[in-house]
Amino acid sequence: MDEKTIKIAYLYEDLMNTYGDCGDVKILKYLLKLRGYQTQVDNVSLGDEFNAFDYDFVFFGGGQDFEQTVVAKDLPRHKETLEKYINSNKPMLCICGGYQLMGTYYKTNEGITIKGLDILPLHTVFKADKRMIGDTRFMTEWGEVKAFENHSGQTYFDNPDKLHPLGEMIEGYGNNPQDHVEGLRYRNFIGSYSHGPLLKNTNVANAIIELILAWHEERIKTPVAK
Ligand code: GLN
Repeated sequence: MDEKTIKIAYLYEDLMNTYGDCGDVKILKYLLKLRGYQTQVDNVSLGDEFNAFDYDFVFFGGGQDFEQTVVAKDLPRHKETLEKYINSNKPMLCICGGYQLMGTYYKTNEGITIKGLDILPLHTVFKADKRMIGDTRFMTEWGEVKAFENHSGQTYFDNPDKLHPLGEMIEGYGNNPQDHVEGLRYRNFIGSYSHGPLLKNTNVANAIIELILAWHEERIKTPVAK
């Protein structure tokens, strides 16, 4: 195995890439290059085999309701590997539609309930009368983040006392209009409504790179599939 190659799994890259979320992966690629690493990005799409432990980082971007419906049918095959990966503190970033699909369900505009992976205790309900669109600013453990949101899904934590949001809103909506929080930080999983892309905020990108490199060091020492 090449010690200087970082492997990134991009879940459904061809379907889940609203508002240029692939920019998050491009920024990671660039910042890793500055640190002397090359990057291999695999599009894990419909029907593909996938073991999360073969990767140093998993990315899942945003998508519109139709694409989410298509992806949600294929996604349950990967529940076991993703659940183990997340619960053993490996790094993953999910944006908007991808973030929604990691929860229990997403009830769409048409009243269709898309089943999520049910890895994280949160759910999302589409509210047609309140599209959350515009610039956002929020405070995270790594400092302030500036981004852009565009969603009608309102996300709620099932047990707000146990889940930590990614940030506290300064401007914009984030998860929903009531809670004034953005995204989720659970172990080394980050969920967020931030497009723009999120990782143009290099404070967050560099924090994620530290997580990636720590796991990469461990992974290359034990290359057996788990
Ligand atoms: N379709 C979802 C919503 O509107 C997600 C949109 C997105 O990923 N940008 O909430």
